[in-house]
Amino acid sequence: MILNMLKLPVYLDHNATTPCDPRVVEAMLPFFSLQYGNAASRNHSFGWQAEEAVNQAREQIASLIGAHPKEIIFTSGATESANLALRGAFETYLSKGNHIITTTIEHKSVLDTCRHLETVGGKLTILPVNTKGLVDPDEVEAAITPETILVAIQFANNETGTIQPVKQIGEIAKKHGVLFFSDATQATGKIPVNVISADIDLMSFSAHKIYGPKGSGALYVRRKNPRVKLKAQILGGGHENNLRSGTLNVPGIVGFGTACALAAIEMDIIATTTSCLRDRLENAFIATNHATVNGSRTSRLPHVTNISFTGIEAEALIMGINKNIAVSSGAACTSATIEPSHVLKALGLNDQQAFSSIRFGLGKNTTDEEIDYTIKLVSETVNNLRSIAHSAITA
Ligand SMILES: *Cc1c(COP(=O)(O)O)cnc(C)c1O
Repeated sequence: MILNMLKLPVYLDHNATTPCDPRVVEAMLPFFSLQYGNAASRNHSFGWQAEEAVNQAREQIASLIGAHPKEIIFTSGATESANLALRGAFETYLSKGNHIITTTIEHKSVLDTCRHLETVGGKLTILPVNTKGLVDPDEVEAAITPETILVAIQFANNETGTIQPVKQIGEIAKKHGVLFFSDATQATGKIPVNVISADIDLMSFSAHKIYGPKGSGALYVRRKNPRVKLKAQILGGGHENNLRSGTLNVPGIVGFGTACALAAIEMDIIATTTSCLRDRLENAFIATNHATVNGSRTSRLPHVTNISFTGIEAEALIMGINKNIAVSSGAACTSATIEPSHVLKALGLNDQQAFSSIRFGLGKNTTDEEIDYTIKLVSETVNNLRSIAHSAITA
């Protein structure tokens, strides 16, 4: 008989990062110490081997998103990819216009970059979302002006998992001759993502969110209908079609490629199993813990749920469980103060509701036992915190 032993702590923060799949690590290992060549070295077998491995990874990554390998630009991660896409497009198309449309719920890598562009001559429209966290494609269309060069809207949200109507948004952007950039860091490898069917022109994504290594990401840059031009942000040997100079991170790229190849095969089954576990966790909290789910429950990623526990401070709840369960509150620490999540605020939550929210991010290795344990420990801790609050009031 196989005993499924519960190993603590339980990791439920897979939207922050994922463990490297052992098959990814295995694929990467030779490229540290045996095949350590520089992929740009043209004169010997070390370089050729590295280049061949990079080419294979480029094909694996392109294939996962329906792109051509030449449309994949390697970067250090999705943050750098978003910077290259937004700043690179802004500088290239400034003669055409300076207007960018984005949303209130973007990841900071997109929002902060857009805000920077505002300080160097850009004009920004930041569209709201509805209470389910969804952007209205009609509002995107209404915001387009003759000055608009780019629409920057994420594929799926990192805090709530809400999936945007990217297909409709892509269609609108195309119709108006405006570029469509999408941050697909959370969606790629978890649900089908196809740059052709969604009319995406630029797309950022990252290896470490899909069981690959940290420090390895990509930007998809469309080469046909239209051919997207970008101004490079990092100059030096002209690597990556002159868009991103610097010696390629060959082990990281090989790991990224392997992670994409595995995701292509296993994504559907993982989505089914994790969404079952996620629904069980969520329903248990809704049934017993005065909990509400933030974001859309229909248009969302399979492995994440963001829950508000009424009357509870998420930081106190996390302090009560974080020895044994790793989760995240949406709140971000900016210097000394804790700010409520800008995403939850955009959904219409007040500060108190936003501060009572916790994100549970499941992964492909999450087990039944881990979910049982999480339901039990979180429920106990919530009840304890409520009775403390109650006795403080009645004392
Ligand atoms: C993690 C994440 C990023 C940043 O990715 P890095 O590779 O860590 O720079 C950007 N956007 C979203 C939606 C993310 O979840």
